[in-house]
Amino acid sequence: MIVDPAIHYPDSLALAQLPTPLQPLDRLSAQFSGPRIWVKRDDLTDCALSGNKIRKLEFTLARALAQGCDTLITCGGVQSNHCRATAILGARLGLKVHLILRDEESGDEELGGEKRGDGRQATVPDGNLLLDYLSAAEISIYSKAEFQTRQNELFEHWSQHYAAQGRKAYLIPTGASDGTGIWGYVRCVEELIGDFKQAEIQPTHILHATGSGGTQAGLSLGCALHRLDAQVLGIAVCDNAAYFQRKVKADIDHWQRRYEIPALPANLSVKVNDDFIGPGYSQAGPEVFATIKKIAALEGLLLDPVYTGKAFHGMLRLIEQGYFKQSNDIVFVHTGGLFGLFAQRQQLSF
Ligand SMILES: *Cc1c(COP(=O)(O)O)cnc(C)c1O
Repeated sequence: MIVDPAIHYPDSLALAQLPTPLQPLDRLSAQFSGPRIWVKRDDLTDCALSGNKIRKLEFTLARALAQGCDTLITCGGVQSNHCRATAILGARLGLKVHLILRDEESGDEELGGEKRGDGRQATVPDGNLLLDYLSAAEISIYSKAEFQTRQNELFEHWSQHYAAQGRKAYLIPTGASDGTGIWGYVRCVEELIGDFKQAEIQPTHILHATGSGGTQAGLSLGCALHRLDAQVLGIAVCDNAAYFQRKVKADIDHWQRRYEIPALPANLSVKVNDDFIGPGYSQAGPEVFATIKKIAALEGLLLDPVYTGKAFHGMLRLIEQGYFKQSNDIVFVHTGGLFGLFAQRQQLSF
């Protein structure tokens, strides 16, 4: 496999510990009559910065610095891995970080994020939120309803707030999923090509949890650009397949416009499975927690209930259904998320 030298990457910061390992899960694979299951350990991109967001932020933050920004504003759920990664990277780079967080527990009642300021009344800091506070990010927590209806307004509000202080804010969308962030997973495909060569495998599928679409956009685009003949299959953790088709397309359109790419590769294929969402974003059924416990005990691999546990559970069900019966090898991209498990510890019984 030849990496296309014509792909011209924009500037990026070297922040992640790369390359991450590709490892086989042999005890698990032996329990199924199916393909050998491999895991791309993107949970090992760093310790506290663990996960997929750091690959995207390598490009996003290079752009923010190039524009002379000294402040980062981004948003996500109260246990957002992306917000935690942004908070820690801000501290590492000496940038101010403001997080606009969505309270998952709240109903429609108005919580008033500004009034609640540090959000301590809303949620006892745990998991990712604990690390957000520890890295001294400014935090505003809003009710689900307020977050959904006023998101652009909130970005605008805080952006102006910092402008009034003489600061310049860079606005990062949910999950750093846009035309810039997706470069991180376009480049990850280069790494995968090297991994597959070394392991002497030709996996038919690359699976991962899809949440804001950027990882899927990057991997799908990366496979097409680098001519890696493997089907990327995103397992949705929140919205349905039609939503993700639109979102991935929007991110790729943005990429094409921003970087003036004349044409999209003809072999681009975006595939999403939405059979395993369960009750909703950040809510998993008992079968997901059972999978998390099983894989931790059997393989020493830790999954989380919001993303990787759900997607991994989906992958195992698909194996049982014979979905991969033509395959010798499949790859699961472990996108991190461990801190989110701590925040849901009460769902685990021992
Ligand atoms: C954000 C996230 C995902 C989903 O990635 P997207 O690019 O947002 O689709 C998957 N797993 C974990 C652990 C994440 O934090």
